[in-house]
Amino acid sequence: MEHVDCVVIGAGVVGLACARTLARAGRDVLLLEAAEAFGTETSARNSEVIHAGLYYAPGSLKAQLCVRGRDLLYDWCRARGVPYKQIGKVIVAATEAQRGDLANIIDIARKNGVELEPIDAARVAELEPEVRAVAGLYSALSGIVDSHALMLSYLGDLEDAGGVLALRAPVTGGAIHDDRIELVVGGDTPMQLACNDVVLAAGLGAQTVARAIGLTPPQGWLCKGNYFALSGVKPPFQRLVYPIPEPGGLGTHATIDLAGRVKFGPDVEWVDQIDYRVDPSRDARFYASIRTWWPGLPDGALAADYAGMRPKLAPAGAPPADFSITHPHPRIVALYGIESPGLTSSLAIGEHVEALTRT
Ligand SMILES: Cc1cc2nc3c(=O)[nH]c(=O)nc-3n(C[C@H](O)[C@H](O)[C@H](O)COP(=O)(O)OP(=O)(O)OC[C@H]3O[C@@H](n4cnc5c(N)ncnc54)[C@H](O)[C@@H]3O)c2cc1C
Repeated sequence: MEHVDCVVIGAGVVGLACARTLARAGRDVLLLEAAEAFGTETSARNSEVIHAGLYYAPGSLKAQLCVRGRDLLYDWCRARGVPYKQIGKVIVAATEAQRGDLANIIDIARKNGVELEPIDAARVAELEPEVRAVAGLYSALSGIVDSHALMLSYLGDLEDAGGVLALRAPVTGGAIHDDRIELVVGGDTPMQLACNDVVLAAGLGAQTVARAIGLTPPQGWLCKGNYFALSGVKPPFQRLVYPIPEPGGLGTHATIDLAGRVKFGPDVEWVDQIDYRVDPSRDARFYASIRTWWPGLPDGALAADYAGMRPKLAPAGAPPADFSITHPHPRIVALYGIESPGLTSSLAIGEHVEALTRT
């Protein structure tokens, strides 16, 4: 059995951020990833939006880590040359009935200490002439980031600090002892490891890994988010455009990637298993929902694109759950339900996890 100081399980954006933070704090870090490349699951299947921190329950981990993570992320991107743009975001009320929802968002944003500018219909039209709204909010702190370049920069930092990433190295079992955690690793180079500390950041696989090493994880649910790309139409927006949030997600919004490509989504589809195919017949709902705030969307302009899977900790219809970052054993930190805004929060999650490993 080999002995290692600190193992992080899962090389998505969160595992990479935790691993680099631990390595920078002087730990010897081994990052284990089941797939043949890092960042191929949820971290490659999201909106790539840097969230300002508008929506999350005040005092929650989501609110705190998003606000802190957003600032760290902008600084990191500037310092490390990771492509990003602080393009801003317009949230729109398409009907009079939705004005109350805008007021709720303002209230939460204030409690979270996030700047948000109420704007009237004329200002919405000035900012985004194609968008129809009765009123809106403007968030100057929202932006977009190249998530793959970001993960590559975390990996580079991990390796500069002496850490190692092992690919095709799935954790398949283990045992918890007072003085060490043992892990069984399958894949190309099967091995058994005795670790001082373990961070479980396996995303959609977190509950499975937790049970395999003898933990009792919280129950999880899967909520798919489908995207449709805008094709054959000149990009109509300069900024991110979001409707009022819906249960389970932030509403079928328009995002622009760094190449200028516009896509819509993610919608909310509760599922029993992971299947990333996008059913093209969902386009009818997309047309209807987008046309409530962009009436000029032409027929035939939407093409089924990709999907991501939200690792939920509350079922359909229940109030949204917070991130779960637990310390079930002095040598283990376990992360569950790291859905949005996990990408934005990644550096702050890394700080939070590193601090927990010292307690
Ligand atoms: C549709 C959608 C849109 C989103 N949009 C945004 C957004 O715009 N902004 C934002 O801030 N956040 C967004 N998010 C959230 C964000 O994408 C996630 O919070 C983040 O990517 C989670 O990263 P992770 O590292 O926890 O998980 P993952 O990226 O899933 O990584 C987990 C890794 O663990 C590995 N693994 C699993 N089991 C094992 C095992 N047994 N052994 C070893 N490795 C294992 C997996 O292969 C995977 O690589 C979105 C999420 C979704 C689903």
